[in-house]
Amino acid sequence: MNELFQGAIKFYEEDYNNEKAFFKSLQENKPHTLFITCVDSRIDPNRLTHSKPGELYVVRNIGNLIPPFKDENDEMMEGYLATTSSIEYSICKLKVKNIIVCGHSNCGACAAVYNHDMLNEMPYVKKWLELLNPTIAKVETMRPESEHKRIWLTELQNIQQQLYNLLSYPFVEERFNRGELQIYGWYYNIMNGQILNYNLITREFKPIVRDNTH
Ligand SMILES: [Zn+2]
Repeated sequence: MNELFQGAIKFYEEDYNNEKAFFKSLQENKPHTLFITCVDSRIDPNRLTHSKPGELYVVRNIGNLIPPFKDENDEMMEGYLATTSSIEYSICKLKVKNIIVCGHSNCGACAAVYNHDMLNEMPYVKKWLELLNPTIAKVETMRPESEHKRIWLTELQNIQQQLYNLLSYPFVEERFNRGELQIYGWYYNIMNGQILNYNLITREFKPIVRDNTH
């Protein structure tokens, strides 16, 4: 733990003092992008995007999940407010221009949904991961031939599902249709450092490389 306290001292003495003007320019929260990702400790949104404090409005939860706007009774979803209120605030108040849903490889959430013994010991996690049920159903139709493939497909399919869940919110859909809001799905491969981008039109994941237009 001492390392983190030493880190805080180093941040103030070195980072802050070396870039004082920049940090003093951050009086207002004016991000351009809502970045929704998993709580996984190996994901560093600013590092992955080479962005600075003030640029990304980051919403994190287990499995980078977005509850759909309406529940199974066609009523406005009333649970999961930590996630939904943050999304609403960033779009309606802060007026972000982009949304990135960033899933990743080796995701504990996408593996946990197939480990019922483990989930039965963690009722909160179990309840939260029910949001993955539509994704699991889709993956089953693909008949994965191994556990590894099943989890990998779940990770990818999950990102696509969350994009559609995002678009179920009227304030997202309207801005997206007017071209005021761009929506992207990313898949970060922790093992090889590559990030794939999902194309909503072709419905394919492709590596983000130089000279790609997104
Ligand atoms: Zn994860």
